[in-house]
Amino acid sequence: MGKTKHSGPIKLPSVPKPSLWVSKVPFGFGKIKPHHIRDTMKVAWDNRDHLGYAYRILTQGVCDGCALGVSGLYDRTLAGPHLCTTRLNVLRLNTMPAIKDDMLFADIDELRQMDSTALRKLGRIPYPLIRRKGERRFSRISWDEALDTIASKIRNIDPKQLAFYLTARGITNESYYVAGKVARFLGTNNVDNASRICHSPSKTALKRSVGIGASSCNYKDWIGTDVLVFWGSVAANNQPVSTKYMYAAKRKGTKIIVINPYHEPSMDSYWVPSIPESALFGTKIADDFYQVNIGGDIAFMNGVMKHWFEMEEKSPGAAIDHEFVNQHTNGYDALKKHILAQEWELLEQSSGLSRSRMLEFAELLAKSKSAVFVWSMGLTQHRFGTDNISQVANLALLRGFLGREHCGLMPIRGHSGVQGSGEMGADPFSLPGGEFKGKDIGRVEDVWGFELPKWQGDIVGVSLENAILPEDHERKLKLFYTSGGNFLETMPDPEFVKGCLENVEIRVHQDIIMNTSTLVDAREAVLVLPAMTRYEQPGGGTSTSTERMVYFSPEIEGRRIGEAKAEWEIYIDLAERVKPEAKEWIRFDDAQAIRNEIAKAAPNYDGIQHLRSQGDVFQWGNAWLCEEGICPTEDGKGNLLPIEIPELRKPEGHFYVTTRRGKQFNSMIYSETDPFNAADRYDVLIHEMDCAALSIREGDAIVVYNRFGVFHGRAKFDDVRQGNIEVHWPEGNMLLPKGVYEQYAGIPEYNTAVIVEKADTYHAFKDTKYVEKRVDELDMEVG
Ligand code: SF4
Repeated sequence: MGKTKHSGPIKLPSVPKPSLWVSKVPFGFGKIKPHHIRDTMKVAWDNRDHLGYAYRILTQGVCDGCALGVSGLYDRTLAGPHLCTTRLNVLRLNTMPAIKDDMLFADIDELRQMDSTALRKLGRIPYPLIRRKGERRFSRISWDEALDTIASKIRNIDPKQLAFYLTARGITNESYYVAGKVARFLGTNNVDNASRICHSPSKTALKRSVGIGASSCNYKDWIGTDVLVFWGSVAANNQPVSTKYMYAAKRKGTKIIVINPYHEPSMDSYWVPSIPESALFGTKIADDFYQVNIGGDIAFMNGVMKHWFEMEEKSPGAAIDHEFVNQHTNGYDALKKHILAQEWELLEQSSGLSRSRMLEFAELLAKSKSAVFVWSMGLTQHRFGTDNISQVANLALLRGFLGREHCGLMPIRGHSGVQGSGEMGADPFSLPGGEFKGKDIGRVEDVWGFELPKWQGDIVGVSLENAILPEDHERKLKLFYTSGGNFLETMPDPEFVKGCLENVEIRVHQDIIMNTSTLVDAREAVLVLPAMTRYEQPGGGTSTSTERMVYFSPEIEGRRIGEAKAEWEIYIDLAERVKPEAKEWIRFDDAQAIRNEIAKAAPNYDGIQHLRSQGDVFQWGNAWLCEEGICPTEDGKGNLLPIEIPELRKPEGHFYVTTRRGKQFNSMIYSETDPFNAADRYDVLIHEMDCAALSIREGDAIVVYNRFGVFHGRAKFDDVRQGNIEVHWPEGNMLLPKGVYEQYAGIPEYNTAVIVEKADTYHAFKDTKYVEKRVDELDMEVG
């Protein structure tokens, strides 16, 4: 916890700076780029039936898009409006009407013909539904029937056979808190959240390296830092308003460095719509790209540190901040010995970057007085994700880039609610204000008034796999209760996941819309419970941004949908039905009562109880965690950790594949074409030289395969590090191995080795999209 308070938003300069322009041709004419004005007009048209309500959501609510965080149209970083097309695209989820009965009760196979985009467009879930085993359609039931059915099942199974999961879109801290508490009240620690598949390694690594579980700094620290590093993060696409902060940083002379296997066009140049000169002429963003191999980051960072230690041998103090290291870190000698023992050849081979390129980055950081490291799924979604992040912490600690202005470690989040999920205790390893261990358990028991189950809960991937355990296993998953989420489109090996979902006796989907997972069979019944959005919840709700701002989002006047209820209210109602004799332990009369209790159960959230009106916000931990280098570890010091280079398991002739996002919000797809590079969702981004070796031309149908699955797509030449390819997520998920989890944080592995071939040399599968094209000479009439 720091002492210094965030100093509030600053103004952008009003005088243009042409040296940052992409081109003198206005509006990027002739370039591939998003069309913000056209997209905004489309959103207005899509929401025309509730324009007033849409306007109130945008101007009064806290954005339910990414976790950059904005209340109404204003944030805590820059004066002036804050709005992007991601927020506008998800707006329709809040204004659309209920699903019409003819589709709600359609034959299940008719619904299964639709993809999640089409299902989303059907509208909101209006009332509780059930589809029992063998039934062809959903039918309507009352809330009493639905909750009694679930409660009766919970009473009849071992609590270890029950699991909860909460996604992040729109879910408030209040709902996470109540879900985590209800799960423990019902005797289970199997409660997990969406950060398991995005940033769980960030929290785990930051805890072990510097004792914190969230960003140590603010977005404002980007503006004026010497070096701003985006590592495996395409913030311009996933947190679009961050480009405005990047523009502000460039105006202050900050150098922006991107480390990624693909030279992402959106990080190269961007047309920021709310800044006139940028909207007209674009802004050059990245000063340099380091195109590492997928999984090559640890070797790259070891190379940077090796240069630093070699620079130190020639000139002590040339690279390491010895004062900071001596006062605030452990493990310097062991790290130095470990790094100096590494061979350059291996570091170059694993990272894909030359020794001289590593030196450039090492010298840049060594000459800088400040730096902020921002990262995302490119670092976390590996079976060595925690090690990746501890390496970034190593760099920051060796240079003293921590706990002061313009310095810090920032795992940038993609979902508006996700930062608060673990902090509220909806996590098998966390409790409100602490971890699921030691004195935190007793502390929370004192607040809650009941005893917590003491066994370690499972992460969501393992909970799902538990569905296929033998019948009599004590952990066989029998009731799976998910608030939002679509496992068929987020987890590796969708076919396997489908089998797991089908093998659960009762599955509950508490949601605002249907998706493909809602339609999967269950052994006894699938129940669908209609949830309110955050803007509909009585008493409003709060959500925590990446930079730890806890924003209050008020209940917004407007139309309501059928029998939808506040998520926290549903959990409480269910818990009371399972254990009516103990219901006073779980009762909350309103959202304010929940906030009052959060302030007691999570001491760092003390202040949340005072958030009551639109615009109310506070930052937990103040501006900088680890302020003045003092870390909340046992001895107050950061830990420098020697990290081994992972074995990449890429046999000769194979490529390494990773997934990327196009025009989408997490797994929700908003366009078949990426506005930044014109890639189709089934295009495979591959280097031209790699294709030349395989006699593949641009646009050729290709097959990407391994022992886990087969992906059919088209070759799209692009600037990807040779030997690596990128496919879209979630379309390429069938190539990923199931059951491979990172050992500390449990994130699934989202990268693997594959073979790439031209489609006409591969005969096992045929793809309708590419192979069923008309071939004129075969298209003869039979007469
Ligand atoms: S950048 Fe993120 S927080 Fe800001 S408006 Fe867009 S989606 Fe919302």
